[in-house]
Amino acid sequence: MNETSNISFDNTETAFAAKSDKQLKKAHFLFSIMGKPWLVKMGLKLTPLAIRWHLPFTKPVIRNTIFQQFVGGETLEQTAPVAAKLMQYNVQVILDYGVEGKEGEENFEHAREEFKRVIEYASTQPNIPFMSVKMTGFARFALLEKLDSIMSSLSGSLMKRYLTAVDKLSAEEKEEWHRVRLRVMQVCECGAAKNVGVFIDAEETWIQEPLDALTMLMMDTFNKEKAVVFNTLQLYRHDRLQFLKDSFEAAEERKFILGAKLVRGAYMEKERKRAAEMNYPSPIQPDKESCDKDYNEAVKFCVQHLDKISLIVASHNEYSNLYTTQLLDEKGLPHNHPHVHFSQLYGMSDNITFNLAKAGCSVSKYLPFGPIKDVIPYLMRRAQENSSVSGQTGRELGLIKKEIKRRGV
Ligand SMILES: Cc1cc2nc3c(=O)[nH]c(=O)nc-3n(C[C@H](O)[C@H](O)[C@H](O)COP(=O)(O)OP(=O)(O)OC[C@H]3O[C@@H](n4cnc5c(N)ncnc54)[C@H](O)[C@@H]3O)c2cc1C
Repeated sequence: MNETSNISFDNTETAFAAKSDKQLKKAHFLFSIMGKPWLVKMGLKLTPLAIRWHLPFTKPVIRNTIFQQFVGGETLEQTAPVAAKLMQYNVQVILDYGVEGKEGEENFEHAREEFKRVIEYASTQPNIPFMSVKMTGFARFALLEKLDSIMSSLSGSLMKRYLTAVDKLSAEEKEEWHRVRLRVMQVCECGAAKNVGVFIDAEETWIQEPLDALTMLMMDTFNKEKAVVFNTLQLYRHDRLQFLKDSFEAAEERKFILGAKLVRGAYMEKERKRAAEMNYPSPIQPDKESCDKDYNEAVKFCVQHLDKISLIVASHNEYSNLYTTQLLDEKGLPHNHPHVHFSQLYGMSDNITFNLAKAGCSVSKYLPFGPIKDVIPYLMRRAQENSSVSGQTGRELGLIKKEIKRRGV
């Protein structure tokens, strides 16, 4: 499976070329720890408490371990050396202002300014073509939840349900939603003006409907000539392959380029738990195999329509990445086709990123930044992902060990 398309993900010399011996050993230590689920479970419980209680050792410990592995820095400026290092290996960067879970109009306004600042900065850099946004950074979670719940109770197209749902809000809520739309619009406008792509992250299913609708509206506005705005589709949901096809139909009808960032999804356990607790059918696929099948089908659908879809393969799955390059080969398209981009999270799957870059693919690292206390939810998801995904930590650790042995350090 690893040798198709003349690309191999087994070359650890290429994979870890950017890492010093010391960094490699640190990564070895960290992935060994994350391989122990009981330790991760304990860490997930204790870390938020330690942060809340301002325990003096907490921040230095986090900064020197998991933060350093998965985050670019505490400020935008601190990401510069990381981006410069990645550029040496033809790896691009997607900047992510990783602050999560902050509510209140003041914080939302601040987030909008921060995102615009990220775009301005990215536009001056040679290897930062995209940035990513979480709409929960701009909107009250409860308002999104309300809109979602109204939309889900209606039938008809996404847009029709969205417009009806907004209409059902109170006058005050309508004004609040208007401010959300303005914030999103201003960020996308800035992205379009500065030629920096804007990825809208996918979040929990119980707020996703208004996120999808607003993102479609943004694509309709800004993606007429080229893809500026990208929606994220979580293929761990059993309805997303159909949603991709529906989105494509809407894009064809409205004559815009569909920006499609494909992920499997980061909230599986939370989704299943909520569905069980509230007694509704789980939105998640019955098993990993079905999730993989839909993911790869979605990739295939996008590659079949590359003239009208701009695809981001956002995955650490070796097969899905290779499969994309194979599909391009079959169609006689170059691996660096302008409508195909690969991306992995910073700190994970360097074997995929760096080997894709070496093979001439357009590939990036998704690089979050932000103050330690504000990126804790992101770090928690990474710790959880690396301990719960079967084989993930084992694979990372195996590759790191192989490279340590090769270097003889
Ligand atoms: C650039 C980038 C951007 C991202 N943006 C987002 C985003 O906006 N929103 C978001 O939610 N996530 C996002 N992610 C995170 C992403 O969802 C996880 O990293 C991803 O799910 C891990 O899957 P994988 O494709 O790397 O492959 P794998 O490691 O092969 O798959 C693991 C994933 O498969 C799914 N899965 C595992 N077991 C089962 C099962 N039994 N049944 C059904 N499904 C199962 C889960 O989604 C799990 O995370 C992003 C990732 C990247 C690389």
